[in-house]
Amino acid sequence: MISVEEALSKILSAVQVLDSETKPILDCLGQVLAQDVYSPIDVPPHDNSAMDGYALRAESIKQASLKDPKILRIIGEVAAGHVPNVGVKSGQAVRIMTGGFLPEGADTVVPFEDTDEVEQKQNATKENEIGIRTSLAEGCNIRRKGEDIARGKLVLEKGNLIDPADIGVLASLGKSSISVIRRPVVGILATGDEVVEIGQPVPDGKIYNSNSYSLAAQVIRYGGTPKLLGVAPDDVDQLTASIRSALICDMLVTSGGVSLGDYDVVKQVLAAEGHVNFWTVRMKPGKPLAFGTFKRSDGKLIPHLGLPGNPVSSMITFEVFARPAIFKMMGRNNSAKPTITAVMEDSVQNQDGRRVFARVVVSRKDGSYFAHVTGPQGSGILTSMAKANGLAIIPENVEEVRPGDSVEVMMLE
Ligand code: AMP
Ligand code: MG
Repeated sequence: MISVEEALSKILSAVQVLDSETKPILDCLGQVLAQDVYSPIDVPPHDNSAMDGYALRAESIKQASLKDPKILRIIGEVAAGHVPNVGVKSGQAVRIMTGGFLPEGADTVVPFEDTDEVEQKQNATKENEIGIRTSLAEGCNIRRKGEDIARGKLVLEKGNLIDPADIGVLASLGKSSISVIRRPVVGILATGDEVVEIGQPVPDGKIYNSNSYSLAAQVIRYGGTPKLLGVAPDDVDQLTASIRSALICDMLVTSGGVSLGDYDVVKQVLAAEGHVNFWTVRMKPGKPLAFGTFKRSDGKLIPHLGLPGNPVSSMITFEVFARPAIFKMMGRNNSAKPTITAVMEDSVQNQDGRRVFARVVVSRKDGSYFAHVTGPQGSGILTSMAKANGLAIIPENVEEVRPGDSVEVMMLE
């Protein structure tokens, strides 16, 4: 048996970062930038007001106070989006709204709250005058041209993982599309004579294909594009044909057919058609795992991850091996999942020296995390995976975890 790390490092060395594509910014969430982005403009594009108030020269309001307001003449008004047609001189003010273009000559904005605007409104005779009740330093309440982003500046670097704020920043530069490393297309092929597609009655002796759907959902969650390729029977010729036509993807994931049973034919097809690594990995669930590469007719090598058929095993081996492979193809360099340390509330046995991934629910109480197992841990019990929000990791050399012991938990959410 090989270790989880050994298996992962072999898988990662067989997958490559994909090429880039240019597309609308909103489609790029969770993808990695393939180019440096420099700003073609200043953001904001001009000095503007940070408040609703009066734009004026600070020299006009020295010593102004509530008791002794400075009376200035209102010479105009600017709303956001309009360019002022007046300049401000000493003793003058322009009524201005938040975001309004600062008029020529103005160096300070006094918010409405520090003026007698409300009283003046009731007194129609003085409508061209405003009393300023505070003395502010030059530059107050002004957002300077380029203070967020100066023209020509490197704003987002190649390799950056695009999050919602980055999409906002790109929009603030006026960019409608951008070059990113493309999403991998992950082919998903279920195997097994007993497996039938959903949406039809299930005959005696058969089960529904759940793996293709849980795996496809994992592909989507981690940024790839799943391609559902149906179910292949446990027959070497038919599986060979299915796999040959399945190589229209960047990585192929199959479920089932890799354990030691008579009809576990995925390994046989891999051995005949591709370059094979078949391993038993020191983990539970998910001991049997096949990994190899198929050569497509155009010469391209397609990595293939053969996951075990048990629904929980296939999901957990996907988390541990396929997710980092997807991240690598997408150009993401940190594929570690966030882990926390939690206090176990149940005991978990580990008698055969494997790394156990126990399905747990983590909750926070009095500033600490606690984890309890989600019930029976059989690798066919998919509902125990559905209930879990984390996988408690019991190391190979720990035979038992007891209530009260600390464990590392890899969070699923
Ligand atoms: P295998 O790894 O092929 O021996 O499969 C182990 C068990 O996993 C089978 O007996 C099935 O119960 C289950 N299984 C295999 N493939 C699927 C699938 N696509 N969906 C749900 N369960 C499956
Ligand atoms: Mg099978």
